Amino acid sequence: MRSTSQNGLRLVWVYPDLLSTYGDQGNVLVVERRARQRGLEVSRLDVRSDQQIPTSGDVYLIGGGEDRPQRLAAERLMRDGGLNRAVANGAIVFSVCAGYQILGHEFVNDLGQRQQGLGLLDVVSTRGEGARCVGDVLADIDERLALPPLTGFENHQGVTHLGPTARPFARVRFGNGNGAGDGFEGAYSDTVFGTYMHGPVMARNPHIADHLLKLALDVNALPPVNDQWYEALRNERIAAATQPA
Ligand code: GLN
Repeated sequence: MRSTSQNGLRLVWVYPDLLSTYGDQGNVLVVERRARQRGLEVSRLDVRSDQQIPTSGDVYLIGGGEDRPQRLAAERLMRDGGLNRAVANGAIVFSVCAGYQILGHEFVNDLGQRQQGLGLLDVVSTRGEGARCVGDVLADIDERLALPPLTGFENHQGVTHLGPTARPFARVRFGNGNGAGDGFEGAYSDTVFGTYMHGPVMARNPHIADHLLKLALDVNALPPVNDQWYEALRNERIAAATQPA
């Protein structure tokens, strides 16, 4: 593990005051719980936007947000620089929707201006011309990650285009995902992940939380846990995504 073993896993929830729509805070709870179920010590740090981002975290989680909070969050994260330094040190970042757009090179903000992002993912987000992408999504996660299908709920106007060094996180079966017409949903490279899936996505796809834990611990497998309730929720949401409206 990147962290010293006496501190256990250091989990950082970035800007809960600006980026935490549609229950995205649940992602932190799920990662924390699944780590504890495996006997890991976890220290969780919620970092508000008027505080400095620590660079010593193992896993950073960022949620979605409305357009104005997204602009403010991007400005503050750029000024802070801590998240980029953490990634340079090997930290893992998992971001949702507005958080995902902020991790890219640029996005269109609430003032209609192109705003610079952190450049941690090789993606650019524009403002979609069509209807807002809203609804349940079902997608197949990139086979290199060897994870079961992804379910989530999307609600975004932004459209995200992948550059050559970003891999699509998933390919959409139902719903829009990135909305760029290539069928991709989300993006990742090395230890940085982005998705449009709310839900919160970890509650619907706990194997993603496990994937982050494996990366943090540098192991290939974790002791199994009882996923009965997660599976029931997943199956319910897959049915919702695949049923005609
Ligand atoms: N404001 C962004 C968009 O509409 C992100 C929305 C969100 O985080 N749900 O594309």
